[in-house]
Amino acid sequence: MWIYDPLTYRFLIVNDAAVDLYGYSRRAYEQMTVLDIRPASERQRMVDAVARRSDVDRAERWTHLKADGTVLDVFTYGRELPFEGRQAILAIVQDQTEVNAARQQVTETQTFLDSIIENLPLAVFVKDIEQDGRYVLYNAACGNILGTTSEEIAGGSERTVFSERQMTQFRKQDERALATSGTVSFEETVEDCSGGKRILRTAKRVIPACNGGRPRYILGISQDVTAERETEARLVVMAMHDALTGLANRAYFSDYIRSAALAATKDAPVALLYLDIDHFKSINDSKGHAAGDALLCQVGDRLLSIVRQGDLVARLGGDEFAVVLQLTDGRSAEDVAERLLAALRVPFDLDGAAEHVTCSIGIARAPEHSADDDGLMRDADLALYAAKEGGRSTFRIYRPEMRREAERRHDMKLALHHALEEGQFELYYQPIYRIDGPDLAGFEALIRWNHPERGLVGPIDFIPVAEETGLIVPIGEWALNEACRTAARWPAHLRVAVNLSVSQFRDAGLLDAMRRAIDDSGLAPERLEIEITESVFLTDVAHSLPLLRAMKALGLRIAIDDFGTGYSSLSYLRSFAFDKIKLDRSFVSGIETDAGSLAIIRAVVGIGSGFNATTLAEGVETEEQLRALRREGFAEVQGYLLGRPRPVGDTEALIAATDALAA
Ligand code: C2E
Ligand code: MG
Ligand code: MG
Repeated sequence: MWIYDPLTYRFLIVNDAAVDLYGYSRRAYEQMTVLDIRPASERQRMVDAVARRSDVDRAERWTHLKADGTVLDVFTYGRELPFEGRQAILAIVQDQTEVNAARQQVTETQTFLDSIIENLPLAVFVKDIEQDGRYVLYNAACGNILGTTSEEIAGGSERTVFSERQMTQFRKQDERALATSGTVSFEETVEDCSGGKRILRTAKRVIPACNGGRPRYILGISQDVTAERETEARLVVMAMHDALTGLANRAYFSDYIRSAALAATKDAPVALLYLDIDHFKSINDSKGHAAGDALLCQVGDRLLSIVRQGDLVARLGGDEFAVVLQLTDGRSAEDVAERLLAALRVPFDLDGAAEHVTCSIGIARAPEHSADDDGLMRDADLALYAAKEGGRSTFRIYRPEMRREAERRHDMKLALHHALEEGQFELYYQPIYRIDGPDLAGFEALIRWNHPERGLVGPIDFIPVAEETGLIVPIGEWALNEACRTAARWPAHLRVAVNLSVSQFRDAGLLDAMRRAIDDSGLAPERLEIEITESVFLTDVAHSLPLLRAMKALGLRIAIDDFGTGYSSLSYLRSFAFDKIKLDRSFVSGIETDAGSLAIIRAVVGIGSGFNATTLAEGVETEEQLRALRREGFAEVQGYLLGRPRPVGDTEALIAATDALAA
């Protein structure tokens, strides 16, 4: 505050606050006029104001200067009053600079917040309900999502911007928000302004009125989840479909067959066809995985080309497919199976080469065979098994005997486990003779099962189940050890032959088991002869060949058993040097009657000498057969004529007798 003389403009008195604010000393004020604290541009205005007393009794805005030249924004309030005997004016000055700075800051904060909201990746909007849904806030993301601009929307009501359909939807959401005091959220597909569809996740809530009156604004936040949902949908499709063939996958099939089986009735039955490509593995192995994949795709296409709309074709994995048929209008699953097999018999094109493939199909019907999915799948599986057993390239329909047969196999499996634990297996030994003399060359070990109820069971009756269940591995290992232990007690010139199943070839521990059998028994490895069948070359050659070579490297001899029955090609003989060829007994029994058998016998002698392999004839039952084999030049013989398979005790007697003969 100060008091000044309106005639001379001189300060008459100033208070402490004025001294502090302007930075002039009291002494300085004594020499100054009120014009001195103003910039030159304001001075005339001051002179006029003083003359007209226009700043008296009212607030007026001014720019003042401090002693150091800083500009001050001030409000002044003037009042005339007598001072020391003259008319003077009291000026009350309020510094506005800080107020202005604060105001500026508020504006800046406001702008900052606005820009945050504007730049949020979420759509944020506020609607005024009282003004027919006029938008008081509508950020850029809103516009991006719905294809409008905030300018279009500014101040306008929904009605002016959105279609009737959009508006109805938005209003419905608003009503839900108005009905509660909390936040409502929902995910809805919304049409944007160009007719496209967006999936929005929106939360809306009413902003409570500050004065306790009726709420007026609705705040909404929306997130565009369209891309997210599309990705999820794609993932669901991927999760339900086989990536290679594009067919439904196992997961989808499982769901589908459950409801299909449930829905099946006598008048609207459903058939489940399990389809398996015969010997797919050998195609995969010989032609490569890319060719295998191409084949699977083509099979899938052919299946699809035969079925009808409303049926399902699925790939369950590997070379297994499933087809679910709706059997309405007297349609028969057998007919479809025939047509599927016929379609699959047409050669496939694998990289320009024609490939012949056959398939096996197992069929089960709901509700006839089973009314639920588990039963139906099991029945179709049993039927498929029967089709494979029935020579492949064919189909079988489920019959209850199949289940009984499966149960029998299952019981047998348990019994075999038990037999192994209880030591019910025994090896019989059949002598093998060199043909030119009475010399015993060794024995073939042949397994028997001393069944507590059924008596002695031959390998034909249990080896297939053992192979199927994998039990052949421990059983085979037992036979190997037992044979080696026994042979180790024999004179050193006698060999023992042990049979090996193809499925034992797939066991990673086979080679170690052989090594152990030799080490533990102390048998010289060249006295152990491993008999394999030609079927080893039907499956995984890439795996079998190195394994055979490794056995050879251990010092073992390898014989090919049942020669002439397993495989139509002889080319495998070139890929591995067999020590022995055992001609199947079917050719031996034909010697007397069938000229063809004799021709084959001669050919085998030729092959044996060409490949430097010992030739052995199995199943020699008559003197005439023996004479013929001797005449043709076979090296070794084995058969009932010379000795049946006998328990180990008998072999010792035989060895003793032969030794005595030799001596
Ligand atoms: P294989 O290896 O061809 O064995 C020869 C089979 O012919 C034996 O049948 C034997 O008893 C029979 N046999 C021998 N001489 C004659 C004959 O003069 N006339 C007739 N009709 N048959 C004769 P077995 O012992 O029933 O064995 C059958 C098959 O079981 C064997 O055929 C072999 O493949 C398999 N096997 C036997 N023991 C084992 C084993 O320990 N492991 C594996 N994996 N398979 C075995
Ligand atoms: Mg054999
Ligand atoms: Mg044989």
